[in-house]
Amino acid sequence: MTGAEGELFLIATPIGNLADITLRALETLRMVDLVAAEDTRTARKLFSRYQIATPLVALHDNTSVRRLEELLKRLQDGERIGVISEAGTPGVSDPGYRLIQLAAAAAIRITPLPGACAAVAALSASALALDAFYFAGFLPVRPGPCRRRLESLQEIEATLIFYESPRRLNRALSLLEEVLGDRPACVARELTKIHEEFLRYPLSHLRVLGAEREWRGEITLLVAGCDLELRNRDPEMMADEEARLQARLADPGFAGERSTRDLVQSLTAEFPLLKRRRIYEIVLSVS
Ligand code: SAM
Repeated sequence: MTGAEGELFLIATPIGNLADITLRALETLRMVDLVAAEDTRTARKLFSRYQIATPLVALHDNTSVRRLEELLKRLQDGERIGVISEAGTPGVSDPGYRLIQLAAAAAIRITPLPGACAAVAALSASALALDAFYFAGFLPVRPGPCRRRLESLQEIEATLIFYESPRRLNRALSLLEEVLGDRPACVARELTKIHEEFLRYPLSHLRVLGAEREWRGEITLLVAGCDLELRNRDPEMMADEEARLQARLADPGFAGERSTRDLVQSLTAEFPLLKRRRIYEIVLSVS
């Protein structure tokens, strides 16, 4: 179909469970003239499940400039083109960016169709702070650049989100603990699939788990942001406070059958030097 104006649609597709696709995404995939897909094989599976017959072309990071310019020309000629990645939101640690830039520079209308994104799905169930987050994507493979990258994230106060391969997860966990300290974290594995799993533990505990098991499947790793205020306090004094709090929690006469919320409330009043978030983490770690 050729209209007066071309349009580029960025269409989120499932990250595992094929039912995680919006009605609008399906309508748009059927309506566009062409779909540029990171992986045409995965796209065909989706298309066959939903009886979509739109022509497909490949679009990856190493797609030539000439190919990208052909796509741009088609947009300028009035065609509607959908972009999908292998999974999730196009452009998020995935191809799409160069075409988006070209289209924006040529004043082509760009319409996002929101849907699945592993980073956001993992964050929502991680039980880490949701008010601010920093998407760090994949860490560099080489140890030197990887360490430097982590050092650059040390003072970020937002929850950090990484994509990581199962083969490199143990190395990432060790390096994260070494560079950022033993922060609360979450391994979100196989989201939306049969073996979906959330492991919500401090980095040191995840590292121990990693030594005992073989990581498999797709993994998003989340780490609590830096608590600058806490870091600037005297570490010895804070450690003493935490030890006193742990002792209080170990007293059955105090903890008894009280709810987490109730415990956190009374401990916040009793230990004003400790942040409520930290108290909450300690209470959860012993319950
Ligand atoms: N564009 C995708 C998105 O919006 O989430 C991300 C693509 S990136 C190439 C693939 C990485 O995302 C995987 O290596 C993994 O770290 C993460 N990921 C993708 N699907 C996932 C899933 N079902 N569960 C956990 N992490 C996932």
